Amino acid sequence: MREDSGWFPLSWPAYSLPSAEAPSALLSLAALGDMRLKPWPAECVFAETARIFPGRRFVWLSQEHTRIVHRADGGREIAGSAGDGLVSGDPQTLIGVSVADCMPIFLWDTASGARAVLHSGWKGTGIVREALRLMREGFAAQAANVRAILGPGIRACCYAVPRERACAFAAEFGEDAGFSRSGAWYIDLAAANRNILAAEGVTHVYTHPECTRCDTRFSSFRRQGSGNFTRMLAVI
Ligand SMILES: [Zn+2]
Repeated sequence: MREDSGWFPLSWPAYSLPSAEAPSALLSLAALGDMRLKPWPAECVFAETARIFPGRRFVWLSQEHTRIVHRADGGREIAGSAGDGLVSGDPQTLIGVSVADCMPIFLWDTASGARAVLHSGWKGTGIVREALRLMREGFAAQAANVRAILGPGIRACCYAVPRERACAFAAEFGEDAGFSRSGAWYIDLAAANRNILAAEGVTHVYTHPECTRCDTRFSSFRRQGSGNFTRMLAVI
């Protein structure tokens, strides 16, 4: 997958298995337009997923900034259900979430092949723990076999928040997850998620360095503004 396709290919940790075996993890770039999933997926979502992954079943959710994760292959139709994360053991099923500054997180259990994609903003931080629980219960996934990608999102350079939020984040997710700098307060979604993953025993993590607010290839709620922002689709 090349970037001029409109999709940004995400990297699994370098010490992962050979890349040919790894599932594709992709993020649509801003140039592809608004990949809205709620209240109903935008037309371009179906057109683009069919173009990139022809013939795959595509499952999405109505995102609410929750820590709710669904199994996408449990025999129940869950497309459009409320939630912010999906887990699937079926390689033919494409699962996706939309993001615009919130962090897309991808998980892959190299033993069972189970995969997850998550929408993890500040409200939903901790959803990665819930996804790991479902992967453990449904697929006997062991933390040592899990590979994780923390995708492009708003980074600590740009994520200024009220003091109370930064302090609450630091208290819950670690000192490096909420801090002050030059008189302002910031949160670091990547640090928070790395700390959670480490506590869960997941050490094979690749953190994408791109900041969605700084880097105009990506959509950003904060850069584009609440009335104009577009969403990117994260799929695995
Ligand atoms: Zn930035």
